[in-house]
Amino acid sequence: MKKKNKKSDVKLKFSGGWEYAPAPESKDHIRLKEKYDLFINGKFTEPETGKYFASINPSTEAKLADVAEAGDKDVDKAVKAARVAYENVWSRMPAAERGKYIYRIARIMQERAREFAVIESMDGGKAIRESRDVDVPLAAAHFFYYAGWADKLDYALPGAKAKSLGVAGQIIPWNFPLLMAAWKIAPALATGNTVVLKPAETTPLTAMKLAEVIQEAGLPPGVVNIVTGAGATGAAIVNHPGINKVAFTGSTEVGKIIQKTLAGSDRKYTLELGGKAANIIFEDAAIDQAVEGIINGIFFNQGHVCCAGSRLFVQESVADKVVRKLKDRMETLIVGDPLDKNTDIGAINSKDQLEKIRKYIKIGVNEGGEMYQSSCSVPSKGFWCRPTLFTNVSQSSRVVQEEIFGPVLAVQTFRTVEEVIEKANNIPYGLSGGVWTDKGSKIFKVTSQIRAGVIWANTYNKFDPTSPFGGYKESGVGREGGLHGLIPYLQTV
Ligand code: ADP
Repeated sequence: MKKKNKKSDVKLKFSGGWEYAPAPESKDHIRLKEKYDLFINGKFTEPETGKYFASINPSTEAKLADVAEAGDKDVDKAVKAARVAYENVWSRMPAAERGKYIYRIARIMQERAREFAVIESMDGGKAIRESRDVDVPLAAAHFFYYAGWADKLDYALPGAKAKSLGVAGQIIPWNFPLLMAAWKIAPALATGNTVVLKPAETTPLTAMKLAEVIQEAGLPPGVVNIVTGAGATGAAIVNHPGINKVAFTGSTEVGKIIQKTLAGSDRKYTLELGGKAANIIFEDAAIDQAVEGIINGIFFNQGHVCCAGSRLFVQESVADKVVRKLKDRMETLIVGDPLDKNTDIGAINSKDQLEKIRKYIKIGVNEGGEMYQSSCSVPSKGFWCRPTLFTNVSQSSRVVQEEIFGPVLAVQTFRTVEEVIEKANNIPYGLSGGVWTDKGSKIFKVTSQIRAGVIWANTYNKFDPTSPFGGYKESGVGREGGLHGLIPYLQTV
């Protein structure tokens, strides 16, 4: 009798009948503790709450470690440690010396890059190719870049004398756990501030590994404190009177709460919130290249990207061709084990997020959208979503207007440049966008009229520590990255 393949064993079968052999990244070198305490004043410290929560691997649902839940008292300890470190050590240290510590963090992170990449994929579900080639190298690059600014701040704001703010409270999401920690910590340290950082509750492990790196780099105790927990821990940071600046990346909903809390106070804030980017393909674009860009723009990192190109606008004359090519390409995408080097799309970060994505897929169908999903098999355990595309949607469809944060693409067509600019802007968000065309003039017209912080031309999802990132409208306030990313951590004197 022919042995039946278990669903989870099937890697990927193309219509030609061939399939990829498994190419798993080794995790033998990964050392995870059973339990992670809070990192306060340079030491791993048990939480006053006595409580721990599990961080699980979303591709297997197996527990990876227990992680401390910080309460108000723990956050208070962390803020006080950061204040003492700020007053006594960090703000007084010569800037070039501060820079050396930041360089050291970058170098150790590079040396331990493989370990970071594997843990990122285990804890967050993203494909190892992404964590290995994008998240970890970019995180190290941010530390390198901002280390260089530490002793050059006088040139950052010509004509003005700049000074640090004090203690920065930083709250980050689960889609780029290590990279977001780097985006936040590196500019804060370079400008002479100290930090209390909270990673997201579903992805705390690379932040705890970063705490080990910070210890290894010999940073003075209290300069960086990392407290774990969920929304209540984040709120305790935002509400703490000892915090001088809040840097938040996450949902627009929580961003609004934070903005209300801080309104009227002298505390600074930057908010990097949701997005619903328009990726615009003109008929004169290099179509195959554009199709790759669309795929990368929405399916990269399971669509867990606030700047994901989740709305596709195709010029009517090439719409059928583009959609056909997209479907063909979607069919070849491999969904599965995040640690397999062939995997294109890893696991959805959590059960809650998977439910949210499924809810939106249902909404799209009920609203009359035509849904297409690739036919690949997915493992039976864990949280998975096949790449999904909607056509026959309108500007008012919820799958067009609302952020799904999953591998779901809504396709609309357009005829003229003016029409697509209007449609692209007709949305509460304004974080990012993309334009694909052969004509430089169209690039200038579109990029200057779309209200979004970042617009890529003939590429998508490219990041660099030197370029600022941030939103218009409900996508946020302030910029991170580049020279602009220093300003929110400085006051002029
Ligand atoms: P998402 O919907 O993407 O999970 P959230 O905005 O809920 O985004 O979460 C982003 C980060 O904000 C996480 O670290 C989370 O724990 C934290 N958080 C959630 N609620 C609050 C809150 N009320 N105040 C501060 N931080 C919060």
